[in-house]
Amino acid sequence: MNNINKILNDTNPAHLEALARQAQQLTRQYFGRAIGLYTPLYLSNYCASHCTYCGFHSQHKIRRIKLAPEEIRSEMKAIAASGVQNILLLTGESPQATPLNYLIDAVKCAKEFFQGISLEIYPMTTDEYRALYQAGADGVTIYQETYDRARYAQVHLAGQKKDYTFRYEAPERIGAAGMRQISIGALLGLGPLEEDLNSLYTHLRTLENKFPGAEYSISFPRLRTIKAQAFAVSTVDDATFVKILCLTRTLFPRVGINLSTRETAALRNRLLELCVTRISVGSKTGVGGYHDPEAVNDPQFDVADERSTPEMIQYLKDHNLDPVFTDWRRIENT
Ligand code: SF4
Repeated sequence: MNNINKILNDTNPAHLEALARQAQQLTRQYFGRAIGLYTPLYLSNYCASHCTYCGFHSQHKIRRIKLAPEEIRSEMKAIAASGVQNILLLTGESPQATPLNYLIDAVKCAKEFFQGISLEIYPMTTDEYRALYQAGADGVTIYQETYDRARYAQVHLAGQKKDYTFRYEAPERIGAAGMRQISIGALLGLGPLEEDLNSLYTHLRTLENKFPGAEYSISFPRLRTIKAQAFAVSTVDDATFVKILCLTRTLFPRVGINLSTRETAALRNRLLELCVTRISVGSKTGVGGYHDPEAVNDPQFDVADERSTPEMIQYLKDHNLDPVFTDWRRIENT
């Protein structure tokens, strides 16, 4: 903890430069210049939870949408046409609106178009995760948001997400269900920064010890305002953000670091040179929107990097980075 504090508070440019160089060297050592690509597909924005910082929360008056099976197929077809072979399927947290069977059908449909299928959904039991794994899912993303229990209770007011422990233990259930990829993270700014980072790193070490065969990645979404209302208790400016990602690389040389289109093109470009190994491309953050780009609905967050998938691929190639569409060929999960 002291070390994290010291690094975050260090304003000496030479020290930051040394950290960045170390992060870059480790990234190239373990990942080469490969950058994995994935595209998110929101299946539904129904949510029974009330997280004060999220535009999809149950009390927010937005148009609720859930894709029908034929719409899911059309969206997947449109995403696959861009060449991307990894898809992340997302929902709000409503087991009623998007029950297990709905998700299983979505995964089975995704198998027709994609080699890698991950989910970012409500926390489940081991048996439910196993059913998704057997249907063809490879990975699950679940963020604790903040590890500070008091802060967690302040911002998670209703629904299943109120249950800190059930969420905290979800990655272990994901591992026990046999998933290949486990992705965890914290919503930076929501809680006390140093504590959250320290707890996140401890969480990851514990998982690595329990499930050494799984492939891990970390994401650091940054808290955004909603309608100008701020929810952050910690300031995470760009310089701090870069420091956090570089620090993470030095502590976990082999762990994937994901970066979404929440961040600007300029910052994503900079971090691709230092430590990021996986990025989302061509993202829409409302429900659907790929096969009919004119369809407008409420986004979970505003996209900051609006480059199209072909533009992003070209950028990577122009900068001697290798866009990776798939590093994995599907076999039946049993
Ligand atoms: S963060 Fe997730 S659970 Fe919370 S309100 Fe948003 S969609 Fe629902």
